[in-house]
Amino acid sequence: MTASRPLRVAIVGSGPGGFYAAEALLAASAEVDMFEALPAPFGLVRYGVAPDHPKIKSIIARYQKSAEHPSFALLGNTEVGRDISVEELRRYYDAVVLASGAQTDRRLGIPGEDLPGSYTATEFVAWYNGHPAYQDRVFDLSCECAIVIGQGNVAVDVARILTKTTDELADTDITARALQALAESKIREVRMVGRRGPVQAAFTPVELKELGELADCDAVVDAADLVLNDASRAELEVLKWRDAKKNCDLLTEFAARKTSGRSRRLVIEFYQSPKELRGGDAVKEILMERNLLAGEPGAQRAVGSGRIDVVACGAVFRSVGYRGVPIAGVPFDEKAGVVLNLEGRVTRDAVAVPGLYAVGWIKRGPSGVIGTNKADAAETVKHLLADAPALSRCAEPSRDAVLELLESRGVRVVSYPQWRTIDAAEVARGAAVGKPREKFVDVDEMLSARTRA
Ligand code: NAP
Repeated sequence: MTASRPLRVAIVGSGPGGFYAAEALLAASAEVDMFEALPAPFGLVRYGVAPDHPKIKSIIARYQKSAEHPSFALLGNTEVGRDISVEELRRYYDAVVLASGAQTDRRLGIPGEDLPGSYTATEFVAWYNGHPAYQDRVFDLSCECAIVIGQGNVAVDVARILTKTTDELADTDITARALQALAESKIREVRMVGRRGPVQAAFTPVELKELGELADCDAVVDAADLVLNDASRAELEVLKWRDAKKNCDLLTEFAARKTSGRSRRLVIEFYQSPKELRGGDAVKEILMERNLLAGEPGAQRAVGSGRIDVVACGAVFRSVGYRGVPIAGVPFDEKAGVVLNLEGRVTRDAVAVPGLYAVGWIKRGPSGVIGTNKADAAETVKHLLADAPALSRCAEPSRDAVLELLESRGVRVVSYPQWRTIDAAEVARGAAVGKPREKFVDVDEMLSARTRA
């Protein structure tokens, strides 16, 4: 590419994967247009990271540097697949990078999974974080006992939000509506249940430690769950799983604690798989099968023992991993829930599709922390830049032409400067009530705020 005709790249999605790709492409003098379905950018950082984890959100400052680069534009409130297709993007861009994340959840595939009172972590997290598409969800928190299925960091987020006091959440950017609903919650016991043992739990020590520091909730662990089989001991001692060792130390400490009379309990349980949710109109009980572990160290899996316990509960939060959603016209691996790709080059029948790339969770699946996406995006961008000289040039290398097309379709595109106006309005609303921001939870509200000075 020449200075007068830089490489033009469309990035689909404005979460961490998208922004790390943008940063690497801008450093290589490409022009980057980032498409985002919502008026607000930052994807998972805004709508996935827990409201009581502001430090993790501070990564936005880095993404803002890319967003303010003269060769970058945000086309917010523009959904690829609805407002413009991937195929159409190819008319205006030399390359397209898919960065749409993992927007739905994995299913358990058990009877009663869809009963009222059974929720996905995806929808609960998106709801309390103010995602406009999830504000119509109603979470019935009027029961005594809630079950969280899964033991990843998302399950920990859900369990923590359910057991924190209103005071602990009041100065976060949780939505006013969610804070009110949580203030009225009658839940006294949350049981976070894993199908394997403490050594195999997917949560990380920093996140687990927080569960032992809640203001009005005891973290409870049964010491019997911490007795390890030989293979689990080998995972700690031979394979040296460092996070697992730290987790086990913390769990041992929780198990030794005396209950302090706090008004809530967070019980961390192992070796159980959900088999069925029952209750007629709504969840009233869950059947859990006790598991044993089988397999070599490093590859142990849960095997049902046949012993079933019936646990009374009024709410179940399924947190067993996210899943990518197919994009029209893009080859998709249904089993893995990712776009078919080889190191970020999208493939069809094992052959790279020229000019089409993927980064982040839609490329590799929902794993790793936010920073993991930096190396992930770097790999994809490296391949894109290597391919660039051989890519056929797009027919209409013009941002104005894209904007004209979108305008003709009635799309109200939100630019990055307009987002900053919305952002400032949210921060001002928050300051009035002692919060870092009060998010707009409605697209029309955001669109009105973008032009208000
Ligand atoms: P995850 O880490 O993959 O955890 C999924 C959990 O679901 C595991 O405990 C898994 O158990 C369990 N599971 C899967 N299928 C199951 C089934 N059929 N029945 C019972 N349990 C089942 O996923 P995640 O919690 O959604 O997190 C996604 C990524 O985001 C992770 O990399 C996570 O670390 C990251 N994240 C980080 C933070 C943070 O840094 N604070 C916060 C949130 C998320 P098995 O191990 O037995 O499969």
